[in-house]
Amino acid sequence: MWRTQKTLLAALMAASFTILTALDFCQSTECQSYDNVPLNAEMSTQTVTSRWKNVSVSNTVQDMDYFRVSCKKLLVFPVDVVDGNFVRTVKNCIFSKSIPTPLKAPLRLVAVSKDVIEGVLDLDLSVTQSDHFLHFASGGKLPPGSVPLAHRYGGHQFGYWAGQLGDGRAHLLGQYTNRKGETWELQLKGSGKTPYSRSGDGRAVLRSSVREFLCSEAMHFLGIPTSRAASLIISEEQVWRDQFYNGSVKKERGAVVLRLAKSWFRIGSLEILTQSEEINLLRKLLNFIIKEHFSFISSDDPDRYLVFFSTVVNKTAELIALWMSVGFAHGVCNTDNFSLLSITIDYGPFGFMESYNPKFIPNTSDDEGRYSIGAQASVGLFNLEKLLQALGPVLTKKQQHQAKMELEAYNIIYQMRVHQLFRAKLGLLGEEDDDAYCIAFLLKMMEETQSDFTMTFRQLSEVSPKQLHNRDFSQMWALADVSSHDLFPKWIHVYQHRLRRQMNDSDLERQQRMKNVNPRYVLRNWMAESAIRKAENNDFSEVELLHRILSFPFVTQETAEEAGYAARPPQWAQELKVSCSS
Ligand code: AMP
Ligand code: MG
Repeated sequence: MWRTQKTLLAALMAASFTILTALDFCQSTECQSYDNVPLNAEMSTQTVTSRWKNVSVSNTVQDMDYFRVSCKKLLVFPVDVVDGNFVRTVKNCIFSKSIPTPLKAPLRLVAVSKDVIEGVLDLDLSVTQSDHFLHFASGGKLPPGSVPLAHRYGGHQFGYWAGQLGDGRAHLLGQYTNRKGETWELQLKGSGKTPYSRSGDGRAVLRSSVREFLCSEAMHFLGIPTSRAASLIISEEQVWRDQFYNGSVKKERGAVVLRLAKSWFRIGSLEILTQSEEINLLRKLLNFIIKEHFSFISSDDPDRYLVFFSTVVNKTAELIALWMSVGFAHGVCNTDNFSLLSITIDYGPFGFMESYNPKFIPNTSDDEGRYSIGAQASVGLFNLEKLLQALGPVLTKKQQHQAKMELEAYNIIYQMRVHQLFRAKLGLLGEEDDDAYCIAFLLKMMEETQSDFTMTFRQLSEVSPKQLHNRDFSQMWALADVSSHDLFPKWIHVYQHRLRRQMNDSDLERQQRMKNVNPRYVLRNWMAESAIRKAENNDFSEVELLHRILSFPFVTQETAEEAGYAARPPQWAQELKVSCSS
């Protein structure tokens, strides 16, 4: 009887589990247990050996005058022969020189990431209070060494080739190599028109900039590869937006985010070159990316483009698996928004899923749910197919065939990663045949009871074995929801049996492991919305609070509890809509 039920359930669950993936959840050194870390804890002073030779990381630069960037490496590429920020079709280059249009005064710095300012840019936080920083981070004053560039790229949007896109409102200021020896590309977003602005105004509004600032930093602290955000500056400059595309155009305020990535190249960066038959340039860009960011691939390896492709396939599968493990839906997974370094970029109408629902669509403009959370893995595959098409001209027939085989492994890599991450979320050690069943069983119940994704896993990390056994969930709202499912006692039985088979493990150790991978706080839409509503009224306290709390997403924090960030989402959260308008 139980066996039949089990087979039936497995079939039922296959559908919901296919959306999910592996790799140790917290790979990066930044993503560590923050338990016992006091809020506002100073980063410990480390001594690192690099070209800066034993410089203390806490020894930051106090004066913006010493801050410089370099564009030398980027300017090895041909640059647009035409100057000026007027819209045009651009050929035979990777970048157009483009001077930012500074945001109009009065300017105000409303959010800043200490971790990026000090840990990435080697600047003392006090520097951000200066006028110099305000103008630098809003496009009014270029740092020495900067030749501001707008990148020419194309992309497949919602499944179709969209032609030339490019940085329509972003300026790459240059590269900065910090004392740890890391090279970062600094970019302003919202800094005015470029040759790629099409019908846009080159600006970004306050609400979308707050969301990008908060989410890129939150993702970093969740241990998910992402671009970073250093600062957010707003002005009184008027920007007109039809937020829900219903004819109601409203005046909003312009903002600029200073954002950073090791590289901003995307799948669309290569696609445009192949589409325009600029194959020498395609080769040049690929060689550059491989040399700078895939240094383990030898420049004279005849299979270098194939190895590059296979690496991107692997890392993209890993990235999407990580997104799924925290319930993150990007919202606009077009090829122009997919990084070649497989980091999360271009935050727009993203969302963290609340009730578990594979059909969750964060972007209200995405009528068909092309980019629903459950579709992300297959959309990743679609994007990689487009990458392979872009690489076509530089691959031999045999390499193309091999690359197709690599693509066929994508789903397996993805599934493996998802399983590994979800096993960790349940505190399972090693791997047993029935683990996929145990995970899918839980997810199916969560789907049917509309239980909260983040808090169900978090509360499973916090509940005592006795409470679990007695189903005493009085203080645990998400577990109470899922436990209303008829089959919940069966699942508890399967789960607890599995845990009991874990030799050399204690409940305490398991709970600790689980708490380190199951966040208590993610940037739910209602939290961002509440902070934005205050920000629209010049109160940035909630933006700051969220930024601080989401820097320690795995640690229970009093202020976060008081704010209700781990509580059942308020009723009004269900009415919230986020569109592409930004
Ligand atoms: P996104 O959906 O934000 O990734 O943007 C898609 C394309 O539209 C990119 O080429 C952007 O640079 C461009 N774009 C989006 N908003 C604007 C804007 N306000 N002004 C100019 N270009 C924009
Ligand atoms: Mg984009």
